[in-house]
Amino acid sequence: MAPEADLKDTDRCVMCGLCLPHCPTYGLSRDEGDSPRGRIALMQGLDSGALPVGERLLGHLDRCLECRACEAMCPSEVPFGRLMDAARARVEPHRPRRPGSRRLRRWGFGLLRRPRRLRTLARVLRYYQRSGLQWLVRHSGLLRLLRLAPLEARLPRLQRPLAAGHHSAVGPMRGRVALFTGCVESVAGADTQRDALRLLTRLGYEVVIPKNQGCCGALAQHNGDPATAAELARANLAAFDATGLEAIVSTASGCGVQLAAYGALYEADYPRAADFADKVLDISSFLAARDWPQGLLQARPETIAVHDPCTLRHGLKQHRAVYPLLARVPGLKTVTLNTTGACCGAAGSHVLTQPAQAEALRRPHIEQLRALGVRTLVSSNIGCALHLAAGIREAGLEIEVLHPVTLLARQLREGV
Ligand code: SF4
Ligand code: SF4
Repeated sequence: MAPEADLKDTDRCVMCGLCLPHCPTYGLSRDEGDSPRGRIALMQGLDSGALPVGERLLGHLDRCLECRACEAMCPSEVPFGRLMDAARARVEPHRPRRPGSRRLRRWGFGLLRRPRRLRTLARVLRYYQRSGLQWLVRHSGLLRLLRLAPLEARLPRLQRPLAAGHHSAVGPMRGRVALFTGCVESVAGADTQRDALRLLTRLGYEVVIPKNQGCCGALAQHNGDPATAAELARANLAAFDATGLEAIVSTASGCGVQLAAYGALYEADYPRAADFADKVLDISSFLAARDWPQGLLQARPETIAVHDPCTLRHGLKQHRAVYPLLARVPGLKTVTLNTTGACCGAAGSHVLTQPAQAEALRRPHIEQLRALGVRTLVSSNIGCALHLAAGIREAGLEIEVLHPVTLLARQLREGV
């Protein structure tokens, strides 16, 4: 059921170059091969067979963040994100990988396919983080010896996942929604999901958390494995019954954008994919469009920074909803971090595979935060939030990074 890796839409590119100033990787290297236009030319070479799969081609493809800033600016509506997914799927079988890296990749995608195993691993790691073992291991030098220190340092603080089931509305019921909890977000962003659940039920929504849901498939889709992505989508389509649901809400825009693409990707095999995709909404969009009881939120006289993740801005195109939603908090003022919309460098697994580029792209965001002097930053995507929070820590700044729903949940007034 995985759609074929089709590159024929590269023909839509007229090579005008209007996308170049908006491409963060071209902005860094000034190398045409790292620009959208250059990558499209490389894909055409790959498609015609004129260009073999070699180190240079792979480098230019791998450095692409799939931020889709180019797609948003393109007058010819070149579907760049879809083309990059297709190109990566096309080169994957020819990519030279060490046996260890191949095994790690198989193990990682296998874990995404088995949410129960992922949760067991998360439980073990949670114990590691909370029992004092982490402190001991970090100070023993073992991580440096095994060259695992950089990876371990990126391990997010893991949380107890939300239980599947039905959660009743508080007061008169206004409707029913389903909450997508996903894979990494279900253990690293579980507290955010708890806050979303609290807000939704408080506004009168019954919330369904389907039991057999799992990874949205974005990681596999963007890393050359559309078959795994399709398998994960199939499991989610079976787990969610969209009938009677007002929306399927997601608290991570990186997942939301993949879920919203289920219709385009899988409708041919699964007619219900389109119905599912039509109901996908980022939590902020859902909440911003609802009526809120007067006086539900306490005042917070503060100016905060808002980060618009690429997946929310260019993918879902729902980033504007965050601002009126936050404006419901009396006294709260917002300022947009990086108004140019350039990627923060997190970009899914990119932060692990291209750490130097990820750090370089994050730097201007951190400098802007320093200049703004804010104490709070909100971001709607967990990968971006973790990446920015790491940069903030390294820069010695004291800025709390939250999801917008966490900020709102903190301002909830009891008894209203
Ligand atoms: S991708 Fe679009 S904007 Fe970029 S060069 Fe091609 S046609 Fe022009
Ligand atoms: S998706 Fe982002 S990084 Fe990739 S070519 Fe387009 S603008 Fe550049």
